[in-house]
Amino acid sequence: MATERSASVPPRDGDGGLTQTGLLPRIRWLWGLKATRIGCALTVLIGVALLWSGGGALERLSYDVTFPLQTGTPNELVMVYIDAEVKHRLNQPTDQPLDRRFHAQLLDRLRKDGAKLVLYDLLFDQPSADASADEAFAAAMRRHGRVVLVAADFDERQDARANFHVGGIIPPIPVLSDAAAASSLARIDYDPGRVVRKLSAGTESEPSVSWVAASFLGAPIPKQPQRRLQPRWINYYCAPKDLRAVTFDQALSPDGLEQGYFHDKIVVVGRSDDPLDTFQTPHSRFASGLVSSGYDSPGAAIHAMNLVNLLRGDWMTRLGLLPELMIVIVWGVLITTLLMLLRPWPAICAALALGAVFTGASVLLALKTHVWFPWAVPVAAQTPFALVWSVGFESVRRRRLRRAFGLYLSPYMADRIANSDFDLSLGGKEVEATVMFTDLEGFTKMAEPLTPTEVSKILTSYFNLTSRAVLDRDGTVIKYMGDAVMAAWGAPLPDPDHAQRAVLAALAMRRAGETEIEGRRLRTRIGISTGICLAGNLGSDSRFDYTLFGDTTNFASRLEGLNKYLGTEILISDSTRRQLNEGVRLRGVGQFIVAGMSKAVISLKSKPRGALPPLALPGTGPCGSLRNSGWLVLAPSLHYVAGVSYDAPVDALLQKVWDGQRINQAEALQLYHLPLEELGALADRRRELAKTTAYDGHGNKIVTYIVDRNINYTNVCNVYCKFCAFYRTEKDEDAYVISFEEIDKKIGETIALGGTQILMQGGHHPKLTKQWYLDLLSHLKSKFPQINIHGFSPSEFIHFREVFGEPLERIIGDFKAAGLGSIPGGGGEILVDRVRQRISPLKAMSDDWLEVMDVAHRLGLSSSATMMFGHVETIGDRIEHLERLRAQQDKTKGFTAFICWTFQAEHTKLRAPTVGAHEYLRTQALGRIYLDNFPNVQSSWVTQGQEIGQVALKYGANDLGSIMIEENVVSQAGTTFRMSVGDMRRLIKDLGYEPRQRDNWYRLLN
Ligand code: SF4
Repeated sequence: MATERSASVPPRDGDGGLTQTGLLPRIRWLWGLKATRIGCALTVLIGVALLWSGGGALERLSYDVTFPLQTGTPNELVMVYIDAEVKHRLNQPTDQPLDRRFHAQLLDRLRKDGAKLVLYDLLFDQPSADASADEAFAAAMRRHGRVVLVAADFDERQDARANFHVGGIIPPIPVLSDAAAASSLARIDYDPGRVVRKLSAGTESEPSVSWVAASFLGAPIPKQPQRRLQPRWINYYCAPKDLRAVTFDQALSPDGLEQGYFHDKIVVVGRSDDPLDTFQTPHSRFASGLVSSGYDSPGAAIHAMNLVNLLRGDWMTRLGLLPELMIVIVWGVLITTLLMLLRPWPAICAALALGAVFTGASVLLALKTHVWFPWAVPVAAQTPFALVWSVGFESVRRRRLRRAFGLYLSPYMADRIANSDFDLSLGGKEVEATVMFTDLEGFTKMAEPLTPTEVSKILTSYFNLTSRAVLDRDGTVIKYMGDAVMAAWGAPLPDPDHAQRAVLAALAMRRAGETEIEGRRLRTRIGISTGICLAGNLGSDSRFDYTLFGDTTNFASRLEGLNKYLGTEILISDSTRRQLNEGVRLRGVGQFIVAGMSKAVISLKSKPRGALPPLALPGTGPCGSLRNSGWLVLAPSLHYVAGVSYDAPVDALLQKVWDGQRINQAEALQLYHLPLEELGALADRRRELAKTTAYDGHGNKIVTYIVDRNINYTNVCNVYCKFCAFYRTEKDEDAYVISFEEIDKKIGETIALGGTQILMQGGHHPKLTKQWYLDLLSHLKSKFPQINIHGFSPSEFIHFREVFGEPLERIIGDFKAAGLGSIPGGGGEILVDRVRQRISPLKAMSDDWLEVMDVAHRLGLSSSATMMFGHVETIGDRIEHLERLRAQQDKTKGFTAFICWTFQAEHTKLRAPTVGAHEYLRTQALGRIYLDNFPNVQSSWVTQGQEIGQVALKYGANDLGSIMIEENVVSQAGTTFRMSVGDMRRLIKDLGYEPRQRDNWYRLLN
């Protein structure tokens, strides 16, 4: 058997098990939130705004990032640079242009090598001092034939507003211009920071020098002049510093470069030390420290890149506004929704990963197709914003949840709620949960004499204890109502062990009730039910309460109320019981009809314990509603069962008793050890079954009684029972044999009191003759024909058989003929000979007693059956006694009722501890259950007093017996309870029954 401590629940789940109930439901939930829709809209808006305004730094970043990954140096290009060092090595003044004869030499060298084209990015806007130098240069250009010059008379200007650098449109001096193959505008568009990204093809009126040179070399694009001004971006094959380049003097020296070095090359000649003609490129962004200057680009290199781009047709093209808008819209919605789905850290990781993937894909697209778009807008603007929105939303949501549930949940549960997808919006959903209602027993009465402050202190302490029991077991305190508490498990978060935790919390509350609060012991009554509930937030947008409602909640409340009537502390529904593990033992207390709960009955799916009439409950009030709606199976109070496991066989036995089935002796022994209130409830059920059809169907509303007189015709007895204080010997002074006149007088008094019967028994007088008895009976019958003579116990008849020497049939037959109406069950004691030998060895044995009853019943005389217990017998002996009575009743059906009482020891020779009301009620209840063929059970107020006699009516009895106008036997043993008809009727009425007088055969008299 497990103890309550081991009646545990599995460890708490990690958060992960509770946070997701499926992606689609969560997406649906998210889209139901205003925050998600606003977040998506803002993310999209940011993307669109950045595109619309040009994108600025993000747009430029998107373009730039592609080029550090390019490593292909164009082979068809050679740069020839002139700087101060070159001039110095050529013995030229460094502050003057180079003597143009050197250019003539270079062109001759390039011509001999077979250079494809020579583009001069040098300004020849002034004639040389020595005209022959210009002539020589012009002659060399003519000999070469493929020399392109930038516009001459170069006038450097910079338009700050337009951000462009212009070579003057004034052509070179005529002698050179005429000799060149072509000359045109040197234009470079650049962004802030002099970073050149756009490929310039000139102005509307003038093509750029690179466009002209490409045209001269036969490139396809210049053949479509209408496309010249289309936006193009430079495709930097490599950093400008990595272009193939030589110095001017190196190119001139016959020993500097091998012959044919310039064969089939495009040679671009320019200055590398002119700060006004130096620019930044995308590669410059990634330069740092000492090498940063190496990423600066002479204007000549920019023109060279432009020319090669136009020749190859592989310049960079931007995707276009419409597709770019589509990208930022779709990305904005997707990334916001996705990040809202995730917790902060996963969201950060997802944002980083998706940003990296998007960046990689975009760069790859640019590298492979030369199409770029401002991918940094979604990656570096939209995604961070969506991430911040998501984290912010999650933070706000968690704060709200913690605030909303912090008062009702343990910190652990509040965190779980905050980490879950719990929806704070109004409304509810169906969940399976366990609901608990508690109430303080007698609180109203207790609070009456107290001041509000004192009441408040008591309630605060009590609620602290109660709430701790709930919160420590992961429950939710739903609300406090006066001195009551409503709590739930399984909601708002699912919990597979909700029923188990609720029951353990109830047990903890009960233990807490053993603690004194402000000097008082508070007893908590608890009702628990499990089932489908509608759980959610009820209220307005500004104020709401989380609660559970529905039949399960109602039923838990009813169970709490039912405790009051059953005297239990904790009642749980059958649906709760079925979800408990084996560590908790329960006992069924019965089936009850609960008003308005028919739906709950269906949802509980419990197997009804028979279609039988409802258990009668006293009074009205909260449990006055226990009627007319359906059957429920309840489990009992837990206060005595903690620490043992559920006992299925016992439960089956209870069901068997409930159903009215016959039990055997072993089962009776099991029942005997049930808690008294359970045994009483079962006996009450059997009384209900026995009387269902009695009195025109009113048998369960009526409790009967009889008015009769106990007349002991003699106290002379030669049996000497050890338990008897009544008998006397013939020699005793107070020995007597009653006279006919005395009996007449007693019967007259009885009739005057409304009596209908005399119970006439005596000692076993050795000398009274048969004729004396027959004369007595005849006399009484003739004088009082309305009085039933209920006389002579079986042991007296056994004595008569010995004294008269006649068979029982004749004696009983003659007595009946003389006026005997019925036979009392006196002298039965315990029908086990071993017991009888110890307490009354000279008296009739068990078989004798039963033989008399057998004969009497067969002769048409009914009788009662009795049991006197609580002396030397065992529980098994009592059950054996019941078995013999039941067997006899099966044979002859002559017993009208069963009556039991406890041994009264005073003035007797038999010493035995006195048994009290508890054992009396238990034994009577067992008798009612065992004797399933007895129509009536009489309570014994004579030995137990009025109050216990009344209570016994809830332990199987349906009759309060006689008012006992005179009683001599029990009173001799020290018990002298008295009762009037008025007392008897009041006791019956107080219990909710209708008192009715009866005769010996239980027929109603009024
Ligand atoms: S109980 Fe009856 S039989 Fe026994 S001694 Fe008393 S009077 Fe006699």
